[in-house]
Amino acid sequence: MFPCSRSLQRHDRFHPPHQTSVFLSGSYAMLIDARTLFAPLIAEQLTVCVATSLMARRSEVHKGGLYCLGASMGISGLAFILFALRDFIHPLLGVWLANIGLTASASLGVLAITTFQRRRISAAILWSPVAIVAVVFLVYLHEVAQSVLISTLVLIIQYLYGIFLLFRTRRQTPGFGQYLILCGCLPHVVMLALHAAAISIAHEGSLPIGSSHIAQGVYLSIFAMVNLFSIGYVLMIRESHDERYRQLALHDRLTECWNRVYLERVATQEMERLKRYGTPVALAILDIDHFKQVNDSYGHATGDKVLRCFAATARACIRSTDVLARWGGEEFILLLPASGYAAVASLTERIRTEFAASLPEGLPVTLSAGYASCQTTDTWEDWFGRADTALYRAKTGGRNRVEPEMPLQPPAHHTALLFHMPWRSDYHLGNAVIDAEHLALFDLADRLLAGARERASHHTMNEILSVFMAQLQAHFATEDILLAAHTDPEAQAHLSLHKALREKAEHLLGHWHRKQIEIDALLHFIVLEITVQHMLLADNAIAHLIADPTPQTSLGAM
Ligand code: GH3
Ligand code: MG
Ligand code: MG
Repeated sequence: MFPCSRSLQRHDRFHPPHQTSVFLSGSYAMLIDARTLFAPLIAEQLTVCVATSLMARRSEVHKGGLYCLGASMGISGLAFILFALRDFIHPLLGVWLANIGLTASASLGVLAITTFQRRRISAAILWSPVAIVAVVFLVYLHEVAQSVLISTLVLIIQYLYGIFLLFRTRRQTPGFGQYLILCGCLPHVVMLALHAAAISIAHEGSLPIGSSHIAQGVYLSIFAMVNLFSIGYVLMIRESHDERYRQLALHDRLTECWNRVYLERVATQEMERLKRYGTPVALAILDIDHFKQVNDSYGHATGDKVLRCFAATARACIRSTDVLARWGGEEFILLLPASGYAAVASLTERIRTEFAASLPEGLPVTLSAGYASCQTTDTWEDWFGRADTALYRAKTGGRNRVEPEMPLQPPAHHTALLFHMPWRSDYHLGNAVIDAEHLALFDLADRLLAGARERASHHTMNEILSVFMAQLQAHFATEDILLAAHTDPEAQAHLSLHKALREKAEHLLGHWHRKQIEIDALLHFIVLEITVQHMLLADNAIAHLIADPTPQTSLGAM
């Protein structure tokens, strides 16, 4: 806050303390006696001191921080009482002790912040400013300019350090309270800096302290800071409580996994994303086998340990964007945004093996799981139901296994549909150029599927993708020229569709190059949205607009 000196008496001869207003250079500038300003400031600081100390007594989590804040305000209030009495008491009290009090108050403010953040701060960093000010004011007790300047600079450093600590953790700290504190401290730092500058350029005898304009600005900035700091601090505590309860309401207490409420919220969002942008999403239901036997043989406490062990093992395997939720009992759900079949299969299998390895020998438990990827037409119940059926198959198939939503070895006549994209003559639309382009794109999509199946390298997939994207652009350009001749809304809508698909292709490809999405996401877009939804369904709907004058084949139905 603001340092004052016993030697103010010399200065006050030029601006008597009881003077309430003066005319300066023809403009009316009001000067209030410093002691008149101190009265509300002291009252404010002592009130905040009492209020925060009372709050600290009732607080369980933030007791320490609130006591630090209360002590900071109380000591600052006492320091201003000493300043107000400086004409009547010894300079060691009215100057030396009062300035130490201000620096100690700033240190306690910093301690209140680090206590709230649950960070340790070294005693040397915290208390060395107080020691510096104590020594400086002993050495320069009668040198106003030097002592006030040094202690002002010390205060600026203390406030900037506090601001830095708050700013550094602003993203981890929920809410608005921290910004109120910053809003309170920053103007005060600016006023202190102006004050330091004014002192360093002022002549002896006209130092800007006591009842000067700049000093009054500093007092007013302290006034605002005390308000904003204390309100901001209490708000910060309140907001962190709210956030904690929000988190508790979305988490399972035993395993610290997300709960159903959160899972269903994310699942709904991801299903929307799939419908809107084609981003794939998959889920797995994981159920611990023979868990009841653990409870029966070793007791509930061991059962709880197994649940926590499973949760920790699974959490160590997943990405930060994946959601692991406890569905109930020993059943967990894993939701993988921006992931398809391949990702959920390998991750679930990894969790199964890692969980088995993490258990002490002799425990009879293993893990069964079933997974399903969401389809654009799915409801939550459809999607969940398919994974549940897969889990049932894992259980009835002998447990300790991971099953997909449909058999990995389907009947022979389905294989082609699942793993290949053969071109059929009834896909022809009646335009030789368009059909040739569609055929080439189908072939490339099929090669991409084969590459994914055989786990081809990123480089190989990239080469096929580059060709696919180039041919897709050329194909859209061909259709754009044909459609440009038509003015009806159907043609215009199709042109817009091309624009949207082009943008989405570039967007997804960029993400894939930067390794931000799996190949699953790209394949989902290429196979489902480009080849099936666009080339077969949407293009079929405008076949009459793009067909050759003398069609070679009849239009095929899908
Ligand atoms: P399966 O292999 O068919 O999955 O059989 P299981 O024994 O794993 O499953 P079952 O549904 O028969 O039993 C689950 C048990 O989990 C019953 C219940 O008492 C116990 N359980 C549920 N919640 C908790 C919990 O929070 N802690 C403990 N220790 N046990 C729990
Ligand atoms: Mg079970
Ligand atoms: Mg088209």
